Amino acid sequence: MSMSDWDDVIRPIPVPDEWTKPFWDAAKRESLELQRCQSCGHFQHPPYATCVNCMSIDLKFEPVEGGGKIYAYTYMYHAGDKRFAAAVPYASIIVELDAAPGALLAGNLLGVPHTEAKVGRKVEVVFEPLNDEITLPQFRLAPSQVQE
Ligand SMILES: [Zn+2]
Repeated sequence: MSMSDWDDVIRPIPVPDEWTKPFWDAAKRESLELQRCQSCGHFQHPPYATCVNCMSIDLKFEPVEGGGKIYAYTYMYHAGDKRFAAAVPYASIIVELDAAPGALLAGNLLGVPHTEAKVGRKVEVVFEPLNDEITLPQFRLAPSQVQE
């Protein structure tokens, strides 16, 4: 099973908005920061204007550890977006961070064949700079999950 070839993929560049800018600013520093409700402690991602748990508007971005588990995955055999054609087949995953239950991050599983993406496997964040402005949080299997 060969690995997805991301080297030939020109990724679309995310455009930060007023809600997501702190997330992207942190990623550029290779830090993962998620929106946290200061009233009830709930983390959420993507960011919203209010806490989805208690409706508070007292929200701040806080750094979180980049370890988590695969919550859901999709094996991509066709590139809906032609820019991803070189990487097919690849795994798109949704990750629930250990430090921020309820906050779900979307990314790709890098460094292993796409079939290594399974629900419950441990992953850790890696930072992939796309340009001078945007660094994309991505994921690889946690060292304990890698089998030779
Ligand atoms: Zn809340």
